[in-house]
Amino acid sequence: MTLAPLPGHPHIAYRDGELCVEGVRVRDLAQQHGTPLFVYSQAAMRDALAAYQRGLAGRRHQICYAMKANSTLAVLQFFARQGCGFDIVSGGELERVLAAGGDPAKVIFSGVGKTRAEMRRALQAGIGCFNVESEAELEVLDAVAVELGVQAPVSIRVNPNVDAKTHPYISTGLKGNKFGVAHERTLATYQRAAQLPGLRVVGIDCHIGSQITEVAPYLDAVDRVLDLVQEIEAHGIAIDHVDFGGGLGINYQGDTPPAADALWQQLLARMDARGHGQRKILIEPGRSLVGNAGLCVTEVLYLKPGEQKNFCIVDAAMNDLPRPAMYQAYHAIVPVQGRAGAATQVYDVVGPVCESGDWLGRERALAVQPGEHLAVLSAGAYCMSMSSNYNTRGRAAEVLVDGTRATLIRQRESAADTFRAEILPK
Ligand SMILES: *Cc1c(COP(=O)(O)O)cnc(C)c1O
Repeated sequence: MTLAPLPGHPHIAYRDGELCVEGVRVRDLAQQHGTPLFVYSQAAMRDALAAYQRGLAGRRHQICYAMKANSTLAVLQFFARQGCGFDIVSGGELERVLAAGGDPAKVIFSGVGKTRAEMRRALQAGIGCFNVESEAELEVLDAVAVELGVQAPVSIRVNPNVDAKTHPYISTGLKGNKFGVAHERTLATYQRAAQLPGLRVVGIDCHIGSQITEVAPYLDAVDRVLDLVQEIEAHGIAIDHVDFGGGLGINYQGDTPPAADALWQQLLARMDARGHGQRKILIEPGRSLVGNAGLCVTEVLYLKPGEQKNFCIVDAAMNDLPRPAMYQAYHAIVPVQGRAGAATQVYDVVGPVCESGDWLGRERALAVQPGEHLAVLSAGAYCMSMSSNYNTRGRAAEVLVDGTRATLIRQRESAADTFRAEILPK
């Protein structure tokens, strides 16, 4: 039996020429559930989480999975059972955490545009912390908490003005983007928070971007945030936890981000050197916990040779896998049945949606025929959670694999599902 794991995807491998997720053949899943189909490896999620747990072992810490990366209930349930909290960015995400059995006390609520209704619901549920992103939000949160007769636990999200050296759409820690309170306004914002009766200061937080593949921006952020902690505490306001956000990258195309445990070894050394070793640490990883645990299986519908390009038309599209259209992102695309030595052709792999932006991969050398399946890799993060019904395409089904067991965790959406909430006027 030949076993060829894919680089960067330790639980996805070819066995005798058949792509497998853990002990399950992807082709069998496609036949049973149809395509497009997302398949996730539970072992890959467990390994990714374990790297953070090793990195933070022996420290007071809480890992809050940034669930917007993949908010499917079964995925949330898995992380909740591993002891994770959740970083949420909407009231809808809070409802998902509760539905999946997550602990509201381990929920932190990020985002620049929280509504009063969302704040009320989160206070009633007893969430662990609001990551407040502006001075205006602070006032509104105070008013809502006072109205309910409670105190809201708050952390101010600061904008440390460091360059995470990533795609501009996913860089969040620079001056000039909408996230967080400016470095210069941080102390004044904390002083205001400390005066307001409906608020209780519990921490400080930052999140500098996504798909970060270097350690240096994190070290800069640690320094900037600890400078602020010292300044704020010198003014008599205690900061219990420091939250360094998420953002660690994954290997999409030869990317070489540090491993989570190696990253934290360096960041903890910096914290220790500055005398902050005892402080409670929160982190909000998303992509790095789920991104390379998932793939999307798609069937090849047509091969369309052209003068300038050959197109490989598949049944997955930008509504299922929005990252290429949104960020020109690269996803590796591999055959589900590897045919060693077969002659390849170069194709643009595209979906059926009526947009030129509907491509999944450009200039890929593939040996495929209509009716065969391809797997789009690194599809565990920001794919299903960003999917849409554009072109009235029902959302794909999802399967979670654990060893040799495969469980359907989301049914394929029907056309009727996509227009269930609509109303025809009389
Ligand atoms: C999106 C987000 C994260 C997670 O980012 P990843 O790059 O997926 O790790 C963490 N914190 C906040 C506030 C976010 O908006």
